[in-house]
Amino acid sequence: MSLSGIPVLEDLYPVTMDMWPIESKDFNRIHPFYENLKAGKLTTTRCKACGAVSYPPRVICPDCYSDDLEYIELPQKGRVIVFTETIKGVPLGYTSPLIHAYIDLGENSPVKRLLIRVVNCAAGQLKEGDELKLVILNVPSHPIEKGKTGNIMSERVFFAFEPVNK
Ligand SMILES: [Zn+2]
Repeated sequence: MSLSGIPVLEDLYPVTMDMWPIESKDFNRIHPFYENLKAGKLTTTRCKACGAVSYPPRVICPDCYSDDLEYIELPQKGRVIVFTETIKGVPLGYTSPLIHAYIDLGENSPVKRLLIRVVNCAAGQLKEGDELKLVILNVPSHPIEKGKTGNIMSERVFFAFEPVNK
């Protein structure tokens, strides 16, 4: 479906699992996560006090409540453990197939497993054990009112994974 001016109806809403869609530094305390995505890196936070690693990134350590956190890089490839493929009845704005996968990032990754969206993959092609790689997506900008200073456009990015062998 396409309806001009409404991003979700123009097939321009390609993200799922983006819990903090306003990415501007003024409004989002995990903005380094999005800055790192723009630089091509998938990252999350590690607590400098106790070493606990969290995903999604946090502003306070859930283990010791320290706010002294640092961003660390995650692998850009993983293997499919299990996945779902929605072919009929995908939500408004999404294209079929809508694929989500639980992936294994490897023994050496600070976060072993992630739930992610898979893009650039035809229906019926993905298999358990397939290798996927990170892909950074541009997402339509949000206009944000800033009082007397007028509106700013919040540039947006998000990520998904795609098959290594398409
Ligand atoms: Zn901690």
